[in-house]
Amino acid sequence: MDEFELIARYFSGHDASASLGVGDDAAIVDLEPGELLAVAVDTLVAGVHFPEDSDAADVGYRALAVNLSDLAAMGARPRWMTLALTLPQGDPAWLAGFAEGLLGLAGETGVDLIGGDTTRGPLTVSVQLLGTLADGRRLLRSAARPGDAVWVSGTLGDAAGWLALTTNGPARERLRQRFARPEPRIALGLALAETAHAGDGGSRTAAASAAPRASTAPATVAAPAAPAASTAPVASAVPAAPAAIDVSDGLLADLGHICEASGVGAVIDVGALPLSDALVQAAGLEKARELALTGGDDYELCFTLAPDAAAPETGVGVTRIGEMTAGAGVRCVLEGRPYTPPRAGYRHFDAAGG
Ligand code: ADP
Ligand code: MG
Repeated sequence: MDEFELIARYFSGHDASASLGVGDDAAIVDLEPGELLAVAVDTLVAGVHFPEDSDAADVGYRALAVNLSDLAAMGARPRWMTLALTLPQGDPAWLAGFAEGLLGLAGETGVDLIGGDTTRGPLTVSVQLLGTLADGRRLLRSAARPGDAVWVSGTLGDAAGWLALTTNGPARERLRQRFARPEPRIALGLALAETAHAGDGGSRTAAASAAPRASTAPATVAAPAAPAASTAPVASAVPAAPAAIDVSDGLLADLGHICEASGVGAVIDVGALPLSDALVQAAGLEKARELALTGGDDYELCFTLAPDAAAPETGVGVTRIGEMTAGAGVRCVLEGRPYTPPRAGYRHFDAAGG
């Protein structure tokens, strides 16, 4: 099977939304007036980002899922992808599985494959994903302000739990699923972007022009807001815009990026971290908390909202876990006392002096 047969058999005909898709020298897409393009690319190398003997469908799924997660964290609607595939040989069984995993998720999320490149060499998969932002509404890491509440979607630590744990059983299999098939939080990202400021997406300019709502941080984190609080008006002149990031490197590290970009700090209530039953069962509460703070690969969204704002309802669970503060870096509390995660060495945690 040569390169052209391979493209025709597995990767053609999935480009209906492109103005010009697979087959010419480059693809062409149409944008509506006022739309912005959000672009992300991720490369997975066999033996580095996934075990060489991974299920081909899982590799295809993951190659797109990690990009979908990046676009979700921008509040973008995913639309088109290109695929750069380097293969040791054109193994039809592997290609069929890979295409099923990749194009299955693409179909579910409204993404068309509009082009790519196919070469021979050590197995490497690069997916580039293009998405659109309407009205300039976007989710930036730089939009957080002291007093904003910190939220996360889903549960944390599951994927890292699968990698770290050695015990077998049904709980571990559920964790493996979370690693192999992360669920990008696209609907949540879009719903959050709806509440971002048109045009500036909650950039620092908007944040700087607003009076800070809370200049001193309470020592402990408030309990999750009651649903009734959601209708309360936002006090400041310019309403808070959500900041967001996807949790790919671990909550402490990724929330640390929001802190750096926004020029603020954060405090996390370790007792409020959303943990799956499977993780607590397999790892115990202490280890589960550690994994939730430091483990990557969950691809949940971590985002900020005005303290009295309710999180959008999009079918995925969200949990309020802390708040942004003045200062810098992420610190943790448990039952009102400072908490040091057992696993030290996280750059952003260390920057907090905690
Ligand atoms: P060129 O030599 O001009 O770069 P290629 O032979 O690499 O052209 O690609 C021919 C067409 O097939 C292009 O439209 C390209 O986007 C598409 N294509 C190549 N590889 C893939 C792939 N793995 N998936 C989807 N489309 C692909
Ligand atoms: Mg080419």
